[in-house]
Amino acid sequence: MRVSATLAVDELVRRRQAEGRPVLPLAFGQAGVPVHASLRRALAEAAGRGEYGSVAGTAELREAAAGYWHRRGLPTDPGRVVAGPGSKALLYAVLRAAGGDVVLPRPSWVSYAAQAALLGVRHHPVPTPPGEGGVPDPERLADTVRRARAEGRDVRAVVLTVPDNPTGTLATAGTVRTVCEVARRLDLMIISDEIYRDLVYHGGFASPAEFAPERVVVTSGLSKSLALGGWRIGVARFPEGATGDRLRERVLSAASEIWSSPAQPVQFAAALALAEPADLAEHIARGRALYRRITTAVAEGFIDAGATVAAPRAAFYLYPDFGAHRERLAAVHSVHTGAELAELLLERCGVAVLPGSAFGEPAHALTLRVCTGLLTGADDEQRQRALDATDALELPWIAGALDQLGAALSTVVG
Ligand code: PLP
Repeated sequence: MRVSATLAVDELVRRRQAEGRPVLPLAFGQAGVPVHASLRRALAEAAGRGEYGSVAGTAELREAAAGYWHRRGLPTDPGRVVAGPGSKALLYAVLRAAGGDVVLPRPSWVSYAAQAALLGVRHHPVPTPPGEGGVPDPERLADTVRRARAEGRDVRAVVLTVPDNPTGTLATAGTVRTVCEVARRLDLMIISDEIYRDLVYHGGFASPAEFAPERVVVTSGLSKSLALGGWRIGVARFPEGATGDRLRERVLSAASEIWSSPAQPVQFAAALALAEPADLAEHIARGRALYRRITTAVAEGFIDAGATVAAPRAAFYLYPDFGAHRERLAAVHSVHTGAELAELLLERCGVAVLPGSAFGEPAHALTLRVCTGLLTGADDEQRQRALDATDALELPWIAGALDQLGAALSTVVG
């Protein structure tokens, strides 16, 4: 296995920048707001907590996470919460605890399939309904699981990403409900990755845990809404009942042998974040509005260039499809795959994106995953000014980035 596609591109971008070659960084899934002052303070105040803590996380953090979910209509006993060093590590432990093959939406976030491979289980990709990334099409989910089981595969779980990375879209409540009903009929457990939940632009979010509470493990974290990816903290919510007990025990046993406990000082700051004081709620709301403004403008740029792209509904992602330009891309640029298209954009135009193949799509798909998170600014001063701006699109570094992208797209398809 190679290093994760997103992290590998980030390395490439850094290298180009170190050589003085400018890059428009649209590849790495990084949020783009400064770390809030109250979180910096909370972390500094907890710096003396040098002890190991409980494997599941501090009582303060688990209570704060339970309150967070409770306010969102998911009553949660703090005893059902497990914290870990990022939701990625928790997802791995949950997949391991599920103990069999897993169904993934196609396309889906790079790490699910890679984690299944690390665990030695097979993943079964199922395409998503149009405009509703992150959940498998319900009928095709049922067919795929029945067929795999008929061939002797032990399929035990399905991963849902609501809202979705890589597409920036949000499955409707109706689709989520139907997927949950299918999962119940097939006795699949559901792993619901809700790390982008607080970045939904206009509402319409429904958690699978509302529809199939007995079988859903929810994961979340602070890496996106509060741009704390480097702090490495995530939380998982296990269902009530025997299945939830078994999964939680298995996750805790892996956690105790791998990471022992999440970093103590970070847990104290995370407990503050999940208690959602007004200043942090405001910070998240302003970030959400900023991402929406920028991502919607970038989507228009792709539409102007003749790509097909679903309207963004959350976070800072787009998933344009250049299929309409297939013949021209082949004739003019010898581009036949998404990876060749991404390479052309980086080498010729200094625009870094990821090909759809990194998200489980076939090599020939001319799809790209575009992350707009880093367009807010190159440093904290710019990012704060973007948050404070009446119209962030008028800031020179954001306007300049949009121009650079427009010029790059004209070079490639114009
Ligand atoms: N899930 C999805 C869909 C993501 O996009 C990411 C990060 O890119 C993660 C999980 C991992 O987040 P964390 O920083 O909590 O490990």
